[in-house]
Amino acid sequence: MSKECEAIHVLARNLERHYFPFAESHIPSNGIYILFEKGERGHGGERIVRIGTHTGEDQLRSRLKQHFLNENKDRSIFRKNIGRSLLKQSSDPFLEFWELDLTTRKAKDKYSHLIDFEYQKSIESRVSQYIQSNFSFCAFEVNDKAKRLEIESKIISTVSCCKECGPSRSWLGCSSPKQKIAGSGLWLVNELYKTPFDASGIEGFSEFIKG
Ligand SMILES: [Zn+2]
Repeated sequence: MSKECEAIHVLARNLERHYFPFAESHIPSNGIYILFEKGERGHGGERIVRIGTHTGEDQLRSRLKQHFLNENKDRSIFRKNIGRSLLKQSSDPFLEFWELDLTTRKAKDKYSHLIDFEYQKSIESRVSQYIQSNFSFCAFEVNDKAKRLEIESKIISTVSCCKECGPSRSWLGCSSPKQKIAGSGLWLVNELYKTPFDASGIEGFSEFIKG
């Protein structure tokens, strides 16, 4: 798997890189994004730490804003996971409340009285700061939804199955309470270790990316 994983790293590193605050006009409306994180290295360069996409039509840019900007952990599993690791790293008991999903009216009614919203806001702000200053990404266009999900899954599987790249000892994800994150070296819990690209698959993917 390592050859295919290396090929994905090289392809991704050759694409235009976006740093916060990013120029939305340079990001496709539909596609896949690949995140890199400061200090994380693999295959002779920066290491891929997350792969993601979107389901709704034309939602790639807004998905990225949900991760980098919108201070609501319940709208971004990526934000939720960064927060989990920051809280766990400092043995902060607020982790228990950070876990609660307050999206529905019912959940809000049930839990709101338990939560220190001022404190929660300060954690959201730490999460934004961490994400904005440590992550960069590339993105490429995939207009068909089924194809997006298929390519996303294959990249995730290829990178997670690779034995040649992994987290540094100081990687924030090593503090994650989610074993799948600490174990895979990726800010992901789904689509790990499924069906990776084979040699011909990676060739097709490479041609697809280069257009
Ligand atoms: Zn690898």
